[in-house]
Amino acid sequence: MVLNPDRYECPEHHADLTGLVEEALEDQGPPVAFRRPPLGRRAPADGPFKVIVTCPGTGSAAPHPLTCSGTQTP
Ligand SMILES: [Zn+2]
Repeated sequence: MVLNPDRYECPEHHADLTGLVEEALEDQGPPVAFRRPPLGRRAPADGPFKVIVTCPGTGSAAPHPLTCSGTQTP
């Protein structure tokens, strides 16, 4: 899966959120009601996406949700 942009960062804390975005996209999966197990996990459909991840924060800053958007190509 190729993401554009290929790196996601919290603008406030400069925490690297790329891994979290990838995880969120994998969890999301394809927008279908069911998946066929024999085929295994299907790659998410390509196109624009928007996911909400949790920035871990820094120092005294508490974790907070952050919306990341971009496009993906399987
Ligand atoms: Zn943050």
